Amino acid sequence: MSRLIRAVIDTQALRSNLQVLKSRAPKARVVAVVKANAYGHGLIGTARALHDADALAVARIGEGIALREAGITQPIVLLGGVFTPEEMQEAAHHAFDLVVHNERQIELLENSRDRAPLVLWLKIDTGMHRLGFAPEASGAALLRLRQLPLAPREIRLMTHLASAEEPDDAMTRAQLECFSAVTRGVSLATSIGNSAGILGSSAALGNWIRPGIALYGASPFAHASAASLGLVPVMTLETTVMATHRVARGQSVGYGAAWRAERDTRIAILAGGYADGLPRNLAKAAAVLVNGERARLAGRVSMDMIAVDIAERTDVQVGTPGVIWGAGLPVGEMAAQAGTISYELLCGVPARVAREFR
Ligand SMILES: *Cc1c(COP(=O)(O)O)cnc(C)c1O
Repeated sequence: MSRLIRAVIDTQALRSNLQVLKSRAPKARVVAVVKANAYGHGLIGTARALHDADALAVARIGEGIALREAGITQPIVLLGGVFTPEEMQEAAHHAFDLVVHNERQIELLENSRDRAPLVLWLKIDTGMHRLGFAPEASGAALLRLRQLPLAPREIRLMTHLASAEEPDDAMTRAQLECFSAVTRGVSLATSIGNSAGILGSSAALGNWIRPGIALYGASPFAHASAASLGLVPVMTLETTVMATHRVARGQSVGYGAAWRAERDTRIAILAGGYADGLPRNLAKAAAVLVNGERARLAGRVSMDMIAVDIAERTDVQVGTPGVIWGAGLPVGEMAAQAGTISYELLCGVPARVAREFR
């Protein structure tokens, strides 16, 4: 069924982006981050397309359970770990890899009655100050993990960078130095880089890379486009013209009469509003593609539709296809027009927009 608006997911682009990331870190293994419904792309379909990734990572245990229930057998990392004995039990049942970032989580492991040894990722806070053991506490934490009644299948060390998207950043250098000081002489596998770390610095990889946004074909950097990094957009938010009409010079379009025609012109109304994940606070220069060509927004984003100025174009009529972001119009551009980042736009595409995997 063809719908007025849909998120078309290009699984070949997903795999191609995975290869680009692998080529940046040929010796590393890959944890593909599929949290937040695979950055809005659809958790299960995306995970199935990522069968070449060595592991998947999610933020919440429910996302991991959904993957297992769909028959995904790869290792699944819970980036936040577990918080209750019940979650501990569920995690063991599903053989999740656990990030361990605080003492309480070590206690849960010490008190667990489960017999299935798990992979544990000890998280070290090298400066992000969000999750993780302080560097000076990490030795003791590691010792406790090594002395667990049920020996882990493997212990790995990880950290997360706060400013890897900034070029040649002093904080990133300090975090890398800190992590290397803590892990020096410890013969355990490591993991450092998110997308920006992987693409920004060969020093920020570790044995396991953890890409998210770059897998989906968006750039983590403000200073480099996705295309310049060899990344291909995975989601194309495709829309359709619902109506066209003329407006005379001086007439307004949309709520608040916020846009007024400076000349006689034509307007096309396209499916897609803030209830479909479009940001409402777009800059005046924001544009979408109509039949492959840019058309600027005319007036405010409504709940279900937008208006664009199509001037004297004769190729646009009811049913003409459009692109809100994706192939031909990087999501990063619309994010910039809304003063936000690609992550937020992609994650914000709600369930009412059908995902079509191709
Ligand atoms: C989300 C997340 C990632 C992926 O980050 P991107 O910037 O999307 O590549 C990696 N590691 C951790 C711990 C995360 O939470």
